[in-house]
Order: sequence, then C-alpha cells, then structure tokens
Amino acid sequence: MSAATGGPAPARSATPGEASGSGGPVPGWEVVVGLEVHTELLTVTKLFCGCANSFGDEPNTNICPVCLGLPGSLPVLNERAVALAMRIGTALGCEIRPSGFHRKNYFYPDMPKDYQISQYDEPINVGGSLPLPDGSVVGIVRAHIEEDTGKTTHTGGAGRIHGSDYSLVDYNRAGVPLVEIVSQPDIRSSEQARAYVEELRGILVATGASDGRMEEGSMRVDANVSVRRPGSTEFGTRCEIKNLNSLRSLGRAVDYEAQRQAALVEAGEPVVQETRHWDEDAGRTSSMRSKEEANDYRYFPEPDLVRLEPSPEAIETARRSYGPLPAERRARLRALVDDEALAASVATAVDLGLDDLVVAAVELGAEPRLALARTANEAARDAAAARELQAEVFAELIGLEASGQLSATQSKTVLAELLAGGGSPRRIAARLGYEALDTGSLDTVLDAVLARSPAEWARYLEGDEKVTQYLLGQVMRETRGRANGKVVASLLAARKAAAGS
Ligand code: ADP
Ligand code: MG
Ligand code: ZN
Repeated sequence: MSAATGGPAPARSATPGEASGSGGPVPGWEVVVGLEVHTELLTVTKLFCGCANSFGDEPNTNICPVCLGLPGSLPVLNERAVALAMRIGTALGCEIRPSGFHRKNYFYPDMPKDYQISQYDEPINVGGSLPLPDGSVVGIVRAHIEEDTGKTTHTGGAGRIHGSDYSLVDYNRAGVPLVEIVSQPDIRSSEQARAYVEELRGILVATGASDGRMEEGSMRVDANVSVRRPGSTEFGTRCEIKNLNSLRSLGRAVDYEAQRQAALVEAGEPVVQETRHWDEDAGRTSSMRSKEEANDYRYFPEPDLVRLEPSPEAIETARRSYGPLPAERRARLRALVDDEALAASVATAVDLGLDDLVVAAVELGAEPRLALARTANEAARDAAAARELQAEVFAELIGLEASGQLSATQSKTVLAELLAGGGSPRRIAARLGYEALDTGSLDTVLDAVLARSPAEWARYLEGDEKVTQYLLGQVMRETRGRANGKVVASLLAARKAAAGS
C-alpha cells in the first residue's frame, strides 16, 4: 500500500539486533531486497479530477468534491497519467495489458474517501526488468497506477502520531497520480538497492513521467528486506520498511534491518513479518504495524470507472514519446572516451543531463576526455546553467585548453564565468588577462626563476620530479598565474635535455 502514515502500533521491545551499529553486509548472511517505488506522475492535474497536481502550494487549496470524496462526485480518469504510466511500462520492458481499477478500503484521515483507487489484480504494466550499470538485472513484477493519499503532519512529539499534540492534514496530494513499481526480490545488497533506485530515477526522468525529486516526495521507496544463509534457495521472512525518501536512508535502513534480522535468527528468535518505520536520526527501524493481508482491504472493483484497454497505437505512441534512456546515453558517451576509469564521470554527465553537451562539443572537434572532465567535474556544479550552454561555446573553451592557450586553472575559471553569465570564452579569457604568454617571455621568466633556485634546479637535473611543482609554482607566481603549466613543464624538460647533452 502507499499510505504515507505512521499507523498505531505497539513499540517493539529491544531485540538482540537493535543495538548493533549501521553499515555494511552482515558476515555469514545474504540480504534479499525487493523494492516498491512510488512515483508521482508529472501531470498538470490529478488522477480523477481537474485539481492542480502541484507541490508546495498552500495546504488544502487544490481540492474539490472528487478528491475529497464527497457524496455524489464521480472520478474521470486522466488520460495523460495513463500515457505516462505506459511510458514507464515500455521503458522497463513490461507487457502493457488491459487493466482495471479497484477500491482498496482503509480508514485513515489522510484518505478522505476511506478508500484508495488502485490497480489490483489487473495492473497496466506486467513483468519487465531493469539492467543496472554493474551488469546485474533486477526483475520487475508490475508497475500499476494508483492515486496518492493526502499528507498528515503530526505536530509536537517526534513527528509520529504517538505523543503528538495534534495532527494537520493537507489534501492537496490526495488524488495525485502515482505509479507503483514493484521489483522482484532480486536485490542482494544495500548498494544494489541504491543503484536500482538511481537507475529507475534516471529512467523516470528520461521518460518525462516524473521529476524524480526524492526530497519533495515525488519518489518514495518501501524496502522489503529478509536475510538467509548464502547458498540457500528459500527466502527468509521479510519486513517492509516504509517511506524511505532518500538514497542514504534506503541504504542505511537496508543495512540496519539485515543486521537486526540476522541477530534475531542467530539468537534463535523468529523474524516477524511486519511493516516497519525507519528513523533517520536514530538510525534504526521500529515496528509500525503487523503485515496487512489483501483481505484486510476488502478490495472490490471500482464501479465508477470503466476498464482500461490501451490500443496498440497508444502503446506505440508511448514508446516513441521519449528519447534514449540513461543506459544507452552512457554507452554513447563511453564510446567517445572508451575508458573504464571514466565510468563515474560518464554516469554523472548522464545523470545531470549534460551528455548531449559533451557529444555535441566532440562533434564540433572538442577533445572527448577533456570535454567530459570539464563537464563532470566543473560544469556539474551548475548543471542547470550548463544545460543551457551552447555546444559551440563549450567546444571553443575545450579547444583553447587542449591547445595550451589556456591552462587548466584558467579554463575552469572561464567556464565558471560562462555558466554564470554567458559570453565568449576568448573574450572572457582576454578580460581576465589570460592571453597565453609566448614561449619567449616564459623563457625569460624561467631564466630568472632558475637563477635564484640553483639547489632546486640541481635536484631537478638529478631526476627529482618533486621539485617540478616548486619550480612551476615560482613561474606561476612570477606570471601571476598566466603561464600554462604544461608548456612550462615542457620547457623545463627541454632545458634538462640540453643540459645533459
Ligand atoms: P505484498 O503483496 O504482500 O506486498 P508481494 O509478493 O507483492 O507482497 O511483494 C512485495 C515486495 O516484496 C516485492 O517487491 C517483492 O520483491 C518483495 N519480497 C517478497 N518476498 C520477499 C522476501 N522474502 N525478501 C525480500 N523481499 C521480498
Ligand atoms: Mg506491498
Ligand atoms: Zn480534486
């Protein structure tokens, strides 16, 4: 289920695992994880009414009789939400099937209708898989459409209902369209769980289905965790940890929970299947409620909505409505630099949507590795501005650096200016006084530096590479940073060669 609420439940007494610290795999145990990711869809309006689907507005301003569940109101399905759900399905390799809606009945103040409309036994997307950058593949069970609940805020106490003075409820989120993506229990570590969510997030953003903003609750993760002995073919009893809203929380919660369960089993105690809450500050999970069964929800078909039968054309349109997915975009960049050591830079560039900039600059003649480095290291600091940067301008900058007309430091400074205010790399460089010093004037500077550093020069001649930095630093000081380090290094090498002959 997707209700974002802390349910009434007795706090569990301390168990053997609760005292253990966080982090890392548990020796002698294999952790098994299946994730349920709820993603809010990027629609203009809610799933069944015309209210705005918008984050951060004044509470209870985007509401109407339909999303408040007032008697006599009728839901009308949002076509755009269905289209986005099909994009997700096509991107994950799911089979897109005729589907229907059910009422999932439960009484909670953040659900004014007292039921949630969700897809139950006939989800729109079935099967599929998600390949991860490390080569592993996580199976997808289903990706179904449902509506979000409202949001309760418990005031006073620890932010949970117990011990709070009063609770506030905001129905702006009630009825916001969601797709819940359910993975197979194929994940075997907290790192893999994080990698799965990162990759999924990239796909959701690339398809235009979601903005992927975990910090705004656009993506919320429930983690099902169990442990077993390595080599065992059966799964252990699982617990479901609700509402992990950052990758960090997800990783920590999985590690903590695996340790807790392993300690329980080692102490001869059973793992109780239940829903647990993650406390980010305390770094531990605690019992929220016992696991609910399907019949607790008294599912029945939603009588006010017809079945959904997407035409082959609609599915094809969904498939064609987005560009290349992150995996393909990474492959395209990797083909340009062809170096496994740059995998992290490649991933960063794609994550930030800056891969097109690199590819376009390379097409204009920019040196690929340098273009990637400046993108993933420097431009990444202001990705929004970098996405606006013209490829010609970026290629020109990379050209200036590659040819030695700008030093690396100078190039980074010019890039920062370009991102802050645009302009031409050459003109910015000129304004900053970055005209490259010609070799003649550098020679003169070197003469002076070497004349007053005879000991360092002698060590350099003897092959002590460490003094290169010192000599370089002296030249930089003399030229107020305008010298190109690579050129100075080659001048030094030439002098050494000459001295040796
Ligand atoms: P339910 O309908 O009760 O929520 P599902 O069978 O649909 O249960 O599974 C929900 C999630 O739990 C899925 O992501 C699945 O991969 C995961 N899961 C199922 N069994 C286990 C297990 N033993 N350990 C870890 N995750 C599991
Ligand atoms: Mg579930
Ligand atoms: Zn409404």
